Formats: sequence, structure tokens, C-alpha cells
Amino acid sequence: MAIHSQQLTKSLLQRLGVRVKQTMAGRLRVRIRSLQYMSTNCSRMEQHISRLEGVHNVETRLATGSLIVWFDPAVLDTKSILASIAEPLIIAKKGRAKNKVSPPPSAPATCSGCDSCERMREKNFSSKRKRVIFLTGIMAWSLVKLWVFQLPLAQTPFSLLGIAAIAGTIPLLKEAVFDTVEKKKLTVKPFLAAGALATIALGEVFSAVQILWIYNVAELTEDYVARRSRQAIKDILQVAPQNAWVVVNGAEIETAVSEILPGDIVVAHTGEKIAVDGVVEKGEALVDESSINGRAEAMHRRAEDSVFAGTIVSQGTLYIKTVKTGEDTYLANIMKMVEESMSNKAPVEQKADELAGRLLRIGLAATALTLLFTGDPLRALTVMLVMSCPCATVLAASSAITASLANAARHSVLIKGGLYLEMVGRTEVYCLDKTGTLTCEEPEVMAVYGRSADLDEKKVLGFAATAESHNQHPMAKAIIAAAREKGATISPQAVCEFKPGRGVSCTVADKEEIFVGNMKFMAEQGIDVSFFEEKSIAEKKEGNTVVYVARNGRAEGMLGVANPVRGETVRVLRSLKDDGVREIHIVSGDSEDVAQTMMQVFSFDAVKGDLMPEEKSRYIELLRQKYPVAMVGDGVNDALALAQADIGIAMGAAGAEVAMEAADIALADSNLEGLIMVRSLSHRTMQVIDQNHYFAVSTDLLGAALGMMGILSPIMAGMIHIIHTGGILVNSSLLLRWEPPTQSFTEEKKK
Ligand code: ADP
Ligand code: MG
Repeated sequence: MAIHSQQLTKSLLQRLGVRVKQTMAGRLRVRIRSLQYMSTNCSRMEQHISRLEGVHNVETRLATGSLIVWFDPAVLDTKSILASIAEPLIIAKKGRAKNKVSPPPSAPATCSGCDSCERMREKNFSSKRKRVIFLTGIMAWSLVKLWVFQLPLAQTPFSLLGIAAIAGTIPLLKEAVFDTVEKKKLTVKPFLAAGALATIALGEVFSAVQILWIYNVAELTEDYVARRSRQAIKDILQVAPQNAWVVVNGAEIETAVSEILPGDIVVAHTGEKIAVDGVVEKGEALVDESSINGRAEAMHRRAEDSVFAGTIVSQGTLYIKTVKTGEDTYLANIMKMVEESMSNKAPVEQKADELAGRLLRIGLAATALTLLFTGDPLRALTVMLVMSCPCATVLAASSAITASLANAARHSVLIKGGLYLEMVGRTEVYCLDKTGTLTCEEPEVMAVYGRSADLDEKKVLGFAATAESHNQHPMAKAIIAAAREKGATISPQAVCEFKPGRGVSCTVADKEEIFVGNMKFMAEQGIDVSFFEEKSIAEKKEGNTVVYVARNGRAEGMLGVANPVRGETVRVLRSLKDDGVREIHIVSGDSEDVAQTMMQVFSFDAVKGDLMPEEKSRYIELLRQKYPVAMVGDGVNDALALAQADIGIAMGAAGAEVAMEAADIALADSNLEGLIMVRSLSHRTMQVIDQNHYFAVSTDLLGAALGMMGILSPIMAGMIHIIHTGGILVNSSLLLRWEPPTQSFTEEKKK
């Protein structure tokens, strides 16, 4: 297909993701979105353009997606080059549109990952903004005429104001029809539209303009708050490291996701998020794909299966041949998750919707009664004006919650929806994981024992660190740090597999097999550790975690790892209790004796050690039968329990991504103080919502009563609306700036 250079408009180029960066005589530089990080697209485009007559040279830049063309201006102009650039892009776009699978019905509401939804939202926002500007202009003009020049306003439907009011009602009418016919939902829009039309018909067009103005301003503000929250959440998600393991000459090399190219072999281990879209070349694993298809059970993936960026290997190791990378996949998925989080309505928001519905019905009844008893349509209209716009009631909860989610994001806490914000203030039992949650993320290796004299510290640590080299577990970090410090050799040829709650197994260059982990793991592998019995008892007495190192079927070494309690742990646990938390339990995968030593730190209501991931989850399930339960954890081994609990809270940053994903709340900066922060934020939000509701309902009822008595003019009725909608938005937006109390609850109470 050939497209004519006249057909080439700026907006078409924009839609194709082409931006002209620089034009000079004989040189053109453009940036093309689909070339970024897509080397095949780059080379195809280079070939395509170099075939044009008059082109001397073509170059592309992978990282920026830039295309630079040197040409003979006597033969060729920039417009025709741009037309040639557009051709293949249009074909590709049509192909994509054809191949697009229709999304599940809920997708449009929740998805913002894809470009088209993002663009749609942007378009919506800008048309709302235009409407508000238009209506504000009309309002200002009318008020100046009324108040400054003291001139009467022409209020017939055919006056200037009347035409403006009709123009403003049309989009509202369209939305009302859409809500009723397509979504089959009873919303305020049909009533508002009917109200506006009735007002225009009664010759009170200025009141109609006011209704429209209030409604549009409220909508725009809501959108604005949502945008801010989305951006805040996006920002903290991008802080997470975006690296992956790529096989280069047989070794796994850590590489930034942005540098991976199609064709690269990416390795994803247990607990890691897959960074690219691709096809499995080797290996087998259970993959949690809930982030892309919402299915809860993990899928079994093996050679030749397709896997997607943003999904998580819950068990196993996959070697993936990269097909797609970059913004199209990884980021899109993350954004989708965020979007889903925004649509998790809190019960209090649903209640607000119900309340709004009820007020609407009362309003209509009151309007009808007023008309019936007074026979005065103007009075009926004022009542309707006050009552027919329960946007304030709806906004009472939603605006407060959105503001709080954004506030939390600012404090590096990701709350995946209003539902969890509300729930977290009400949970009565907290279960906490030990290693990495109550204790520091980086424990310290205190003692190293070898089986024989020739197995010194350096050798034992070398074996252990080789096996742990790709692991994010706190034990692994401690072991790697100790090995580095001692200058032990860590073999790069290791192929490792994590065993959540147990340890790690690894083969080195197909000849050596190393196991590192706890007693349970060694027993499972049939490895006898009795040689170290005495030393292990002594280490456990010190409160140190015992880790065994076995090589080719024999226990060769043992490590004692000290795992100090976080500085804030005791303070935070006390604050939770003071805030009404009934019970605090420890659920740990570490040995029972080591877990019990935690009783010296704080009087827990229960301490459970030796728990496998599924046992943690079962324990939570039992507790949930009596009380709402929150689970706080950091690792792959906690993911099941996090998903099982009413509220799963993941310790972010250092934690496993699978845990972050399974959780409802993620503390991105890995500080337990976040637990107090979310709880007090939850309480504060509920207070603000209560205030808002009270304010909204009382002004509504008072206004309606005054309207019925004939004391209120339609203009004053409109003003009441402006005041209470504005008041609620201002009150909610104070939550954006709210700071958690600096002292913990304990200190506050003592005062
Ligand atoms: P917790 O539930 O307390 O956070 P985990 O379930 O993560 O603890 O780990 C339980 C135990 O399993 C650890 O105390 C350690 O002995 C062993 N373990 C787990 N992962 C590893 C690893 N990567 N290396 C060595 N030991 C490990
Ligand atoms: Mg842990």
C-alpha cells in the first residue's frame, strides 16, 4: 500500500507513534515508538527506507527508537519520507487490531496497561476539562451581568444562555443513555439530565447551567484525584529493580530488563517474575499467571509453551527465548495490576453508592410531593436541584479513599484498593513471618564449621554461596556476603532451584550437586547430618539459625546464622496491641526452637515454627474462622499465606516479587512502621468519610426542607450544591497531605 504524502497528518503520525525530532536540509531525525528495543523492527525499517530513491544513508538507535535519514533534497522531501515511514506502521497496526483477542467484559474498566486505554482516558479527561472551561466561562459571564451590571438574564431556551445550557446537556444525555441502555445501571445521570431539561423548559436556564457546572466540576475533580493516585502508585512500582538473568556463554548474567533483546535466553527461577514475553526453550515450572488472566491456579509450563512478562514462576526454573520486551509487555502488566487495584471498591464506597441511590429516591418523592401540595413547579424544581445530585454522597467515600491511596503511595506503601484500606483497620489477628519480617533482611553468618580439616571456612562458604548465588532469601544474602568477605570462589556455572521454606539445590557444570538448607531439607534428601549435632544444639541455644551445606550426598559443613530482630519490631508490635489488635502470632519456616527464642523479645500469643508454605496457609485458614486475619511476610514461602489471609501485607524492596503480588498491601521500603502507618491511615480515612457523609446528608435534607417551604430560590439551591460538593472534596483532599502520627499509639495513649 502506498499512502499519499497529502494524507499524512500530524495526528496520524502521532497515532502511529512517530515524532519528528529534527529536520534539516538533507537530514531527518524521527523517533518511532515501535522501534524502541525492537532490533528486528529497526532493521526492517532501515531496509525499507534505504530503498527509497534519493536516500544516502539510514541509521537507527535501539535505545531511543530513533531513525536518522540522510537524503538528497533535490530528489526527495521530508513529507514523502514520513509517508514511507508510516506505511509499514499502518500495516502493522491493522494486523494488531485484527489479531487482538476481545478482552473479558471487565477489562475496559480495569485495564490501563495498554496504550489505547491510556489514550482513551486521556481523551475523556481533556473533553471533560473543555466542558468545565466552557461552562465556567458561561457562569462567569452570567454572574458578571447579574451582579456587576445588574442586568437581567434572558432565560428562555432560545437565549444565548439557553443554547449554552442545551449544548452542555447533550453529553450528559448521551452518558445517561449509555448508562441505562448499555450498562443497565441506575445512575444519577438520567435524573440530572432530566432535571437540566426540565429546568430549561421552565425557563430557568441559569439554574440548568449551574447543575451542569457542578456535575462537570465534580467529575473532573474525581478524575484528577484518580490520576494523581495512579501516578503515585506507578512511581513506586518503578522503583522495584527490573533485572533478569540472561544466559551468556553458558553462565547466567544479571541484566537490566531494558537491555534484553528478542532472541535472548532469559532464565526465571522460583519466585521470580518473568521479564519478557517468550517461548520456553528448556525447563518446567508452575507459573502464576493471575496478573494477566486472573486465574488463581498456577499453570504448568514446559518447552514450547508461551509465557508472558509479569507472570511469576511459583516453582521451578524456565529458560525462555525472548520474543517481546519493553514497554509493550512488562510495564503494561504492572499498570494493569495497579488499575485493578483502583477498582477494588471498599465496602464503605458501596454503602455510599447505596446511600446516594436512597437519597435520589427520597429526592424524587420530595419533588413530586412538593409539586402535588404546592402546585408550584419552581419550588418543586428547587427541591429537585438540591436532592437530584447526590454526587456529593458518592464522592464522600470515593474521594477520601483515592486520596488516602495516593498518600500511602507517597509513603512507599502500595495499597491495592479501598477494600484493603478499610479492612486493615479492622483486622484483629496479625500473623507475622519471622525471617526477614520480624528480623533484619540481612542476617549475619556467625560461625562456619567444616566436616574435616581441609574443608575450611572459605571452601564451605564457597559451596554454599555458589548454590545461593541467584537467591533473594535473607539467608542467601547473608551467605553471599560472608563468602565475598572471606574471598571464597563462587562458581558462575551453577543451575539452581529454590525450595521455599527449606533451602536451595544446585548442580554445578553437571558434575557437582550442592544442597543448602535446614534440617528438614537434608532429611528429605536423605543426607545424614548427625556429625554436626552437638554444634547445632549449641548454635540454636544462641538463637542462631542452623544451615547445612551438603555436596554430592554428604554433609560437608554447617553454618550458624544470627538473625537480629529489627530495631522497630517491639515498638510496632506494642502499638498494634494498643490499637486493639487481639492476638499476634509468629508463623515461621525456621526451626521450632529458634522460633521460640522470639518469645524473649515480645510476648506473642502463639509461636509456630517448622511450617511449610502450605502449613502457614492452613494455619491462617483456621484462624480466619474466628477473626479477620492479617498476614505479614516477605518471602516466596509466604505467598500462599498472604493470599489466604483477609489482608496480606508484604515487606517489599528486599522481598520476593511473588509475595508482593500475592499481597493486598506492600510496604515498599521494608520497614515494619508501615504497619502502623496503614492502620492509622485506615482509621483516619474512615473518620473523614463519616464527616463527609454527615455533611452531605445534612445539607441535602436541610436544603430540600427549605426548598419545600419556598424559602430557597433555584440559584441558592445551586449554591448549596457547590458548597457541599466543594466542602467534601476539600475535606478529602486534606488526606493527601495527612502525615502518620510520629509517636506510636503507645506514647500517644500515655499522654
Ligand atoms: P520464615 O518463615 O521464618 O521467614 P523461611 O520459611 O523463609 O523462614 O525459611 C525457613 C528456613 O528454611 C530458614 O530458617 C532456613 O533454615 C531454611 N532456608 C530457607 N531458604 C533458605 C536458603 N535460601 N538458604 C538456606 N536456608 C534456607
Ligand atoms: Mg521470611
